[in-house]
Amino acid sequence: MERVIIIGSGPAGLTAAVYAARANLQPLVLAGGLYGGQLMLTTDVENYPGFPEGILGPELMIKFREQAERFGARIENVDVSSVDFTKRPLVVRTDDAEFEAKTVIVATGASARWLDVPGEEKLRGRGVSSCATCDGAFFRDKRIAVVGGGDSAMEEALFLTRFGSRVTVIHRRDRLRASKIMVDRALAHPKMDFIWNAVVEAVLGETHVTGLRIANVLDGTTYDIETDAMFVAIGHTPNTAVFTGQLDLDERGYVVSPDGTSTNVEGVFVAGDVNDHRYRQAITAAGAGCRAAMDVEKYLEAQEFKVDSLARL
Ligand code: NAP
Repeated sequence: MERVIIIGSGPAGLTAAVYAARANLQPLVLAGGLYGGQLMLTTDVENYPGFPEGILGPELMIKFREQAERFGARIENVDVSSVDFTKRPLVVRTDDAEFEAKTVIVATGASARWLDVPGEEKLRGRGVSSCATCDGAFFRDKRIAVVGGGDSAMEEALFLTRFGSRVTVIHRRDRLRASKIMVDRALAHPKMDFIWNAVVEAVLGETHVTGLRIANVLDGTTYDIETDAMFVAIGHTPNTAVFTGQLDLDERGYVVSPDGTSTNVEGVFVAGDVNDHRYRQAITAAGAGCRAAMDVEKYLEAQEFKVDSLARL
């Protein structure tokens, strides 16, 4: 039986793996078929402390992985297909295997929602992004478009005004969903403008974004605008499908945790974006992974102490 299984291999999962491995728990990391999380989809990461020159997202995740393996973490690039947290030991299944564990850390992250329009996937990391904090600084004095009308879109757009010469919000309705304070700030900002009742039909450009094809949803007309970047901010989806019915999830599907590490199931802990829709940074996820691993260690110690005490009676 495993002492700890970590599900997920972004900054949260792999930091948990480093800490659990150094605590001699020999963690098994079920990393997912596409290991490394959202940073595998970005180019330069300039805000992860310790890399003053910046580092490529995938390179950073390889370093995380090597560090965890160096201390004895076993990492398998497989997807978890189901779990049974009603049983003791806890059960985690992949398509080909079934594992038993005393504890589990859920660190499956969240996925940015994309528009799924032509050109979007091809130009991801080349002007198409879902993270202003990560990529905004690459568009200094450039024209930037932001898609979405919620708080995330307004937050991203306002942040991007620090860099862009112009920030254009494209929203599919004529009213923003964002909170009033954000709406007021955005509407009053001298660098921002809005294209209402409009959706992006295609991202234009061969090697990098040069423009967007816009469709007016009211009259169906289409036209092109020039831009150097498109930030998509239409929400995130937590990767919690396999935990439905097993863990308490909130109305948006995020794992509920009263303290940021424990869940409603004893022995099951959570870390990173799968529980956090607010900060969503590599560094905050890494911090959460550290905390979850430390709590696992304490939990196992307490369990093992109980077993020892009972044996002595
Ligand atoms: P959200 O509130 O669900 O807003 C998503 C926005 O994207 C909506 O305006 C929606 O349009 C638009 N949208 C969705 N799918 C689209 C599509 N396929 N094409 C074009 N537009 C699309 O998501 P969020 O902004 O990420 O916020 C999530 C939660 O976190 C919210 O509760 C928010 O208040 C909170 N949050 C708070 C802060 C803050 O307080 N500082 C910051 C960020 C997020 P419609 O309006 O037409 O539905």
